[in-house]
Amino acid sequence: MTGSDTSVPRDALAGLRPRLPSPLREVADGRFERHGVRLLLKRDDLIHPELIGNKWRKLAPNLDEAAGRTVLTFGGAYSNHLRATAAAGRLLGLRTVGVVRGQELADRPLNPSLARCAADGMRLHFVDRSTYRRKAEPETLAAVLRAAGAEDAYVVPEGGSNPAAVRGCRALGEELAGRADVVAVACGTGGTLAGLAAGLGGKTRALGIPVLRGGFLADDIRALQGEAFGGPRGDWSLDDRFHFGGYARTTPELDTFAEDFEHRHGIPVERLYVAKLLYALVVLAEENAFPRGSEVAAVITGRPFP
Ligand SMILES: *Cc1c(COP(=O)(O)O)cnc(C)c1O
Repeated sequence: MTGSDTSVPRDALAGLRPRLPSPLREVADGRFERHGVRLLLKRDDLIHPELIGNKWRKLAPNLDEAAGRTVLTFGGAYSNHLRATAAAGRLLGLRTVGVVRGQELADRPLNPSLARCAADGMRLHFVDRSTYRRKAEPETLAAVLRAAGAEDAYVVPEGGSNPAAVRGCRALGEELAGRADVVAVACGTGGTLAGLAAGLGGKTRALGIPVLRGGFLADDIRALQGEAFGGPRGDWSLDDRFHFGGYARTTPELDTFAEDFEHRHGIPVERLYVAKLLYALVVLAEENAFPRGSEVAAVITGRPFP
């Protein structure tokens, strides 16, 4: 580093006034109580009104490393990560480019999520699905950066999960270590779980609920921990039964469950990730997967949009 004149100084991030550590609160829920389990909610959705939840934890270290350069990243048409990146750009005065999956979207009116990104100053660059799939290959990435006119950009991968992001999520685990017996989180790329488990340091078990179908996530998480920390960290496992058919898939039962949870506890339930996590925990409690006397903390990683 040659000085901080071109970077986004830590002060700028602090100026966004994140609420950290995020609140941890117990809620009374008979579906847990009747099995002798206490349910705690880790309200990462309250960290920041626009850089929400794990998106704050993953983006903040990257914004720091970007050091004032244009930030380019990737996402689908309703990506929480794209919206968070665009908001960060507006708040910190950084240029942002969003590479969006689906060339066909270029010819349609922007959906509310992409419209928000654009309103926050993000330049949107649409690519076809096969290019999008190959975006991690160096030649494809170079071509995308060239086409987007952003060859000098600081590139954050899809979902924001790179080693800096995973290390950023370690703080989530540190905030929860010893505060519960199990900490559960919904997983997309698994970056949040990889960092969370490291921060818990094996004192508290981490449980991941994948929202995508696949089965490769455990390997991805091991790879992310290897890159971020040099090897495996913490005590974590996945339960693959609660993806409801895949990303953004839902069922009437899941929708009803989420609405009911909102009414019971007065918190908005994000549907792509958080609803599946909470549903999974209710089923696991019913199965007596948690010994009586356990405390289970659910990480509320996001909030519904809009
Ligand atoms: C992005 C996101 C996740 C997934 O995080 P990963 O680190 O990709 O596993 C979970 N919950 C919400 C609300 C998200 O927006």
